[in-house]
Amino acid sequence: MRNFLVAGNWKMNCGPGETKKLLDGIKNSDVSIPERVDVLVCPPMISLTVASDELQDAEGVALGAQNVHSEDNGAYTGEVSTQMLNEVQCDYVILGHSERREYFGETDTTVNAKVIKSLSDDLRPVICVGESLEQRKAGEHQLIVRKQVEAALSGVSEDGAGGLVIAYEPIWAIGTGETASPDQAQEMHKMVREVLADLYSDDMADGIRILYGGSMKPHNAEELLSQPDVDGGLIGGASLKADSFTEIIRIAGELSS
Ligand code: PEP
Repeated sequence: MRNFLVAGNWKMNCGPGETKKLLDGIKNSDVSIPERVDVLVCPPMISLTVASDELQDAEGVALGAQNVHSEDNGAYTGEVSTQMLNEVQCDYVILGHSERREYFGETDTTVNAKVIKSLSDDLRPVICVGESLEQRKAGEHQLIVRKQVEAALSGVSEDGAGGLVIAYEPIWAIGTGETASPDQAQEMHKMVREVLADLYSDDMADGIRILYGGSMKPHNAEELLSQPDVDGGLIGGASLKADSFTEIIRIAGELSS
């Protein structure tokens, strides 16, 4: 039996009004949340409070942010802290998304600091890793992703790592409509699990969910989620429409039973 996590990364889409509408669409969908599927939505910061209220009566749908700072408070204009996310009932936080690495100067070091801070404040990090097209063409994809995982988890003990999630997101597949083939995804997910087993233990590695992200849509979700090491999806574009997001949830539900 599988136990999937289907997560929506809304990026810079949906202010409070649209957030309410999209969540209403998800809640009122014909698809009810399957027993063995956890659902996560990650709206922009400004919409977290509305989302938190909306999700009070939505069992099985958790709330996450798309970023957090590694300090508690202070002179960090434009940032939010883990305590602020706790206050609006966020359970998860996406960290190290390739867009944050590319446009906002996030490095393996800043991601690592955020991972440590989040875990210590009861937020489950969804740590994004993935290679560029150039790195894949050069045959460096495994090495790059291995290093990203190791760096993100540097100094994180097995006891402290409970609840973390890894998202393998090949950069060339994000928002491009191009998807990793099921074999490519499985190969990378298996490798990430081996890295986790080396860092921690086989049991620990088996319990960590490794999501695939990169143009996952209703038409390709089944073949990707059928791979043994793909434990769910981190979904951008297709999470912005209730129909496509809930269809992926439905597919995960079918595969989980
Ligand atoms: C993402 O932003 O994490 C993502 C995978 O986006 P998309 O599904 O649009 O490729």
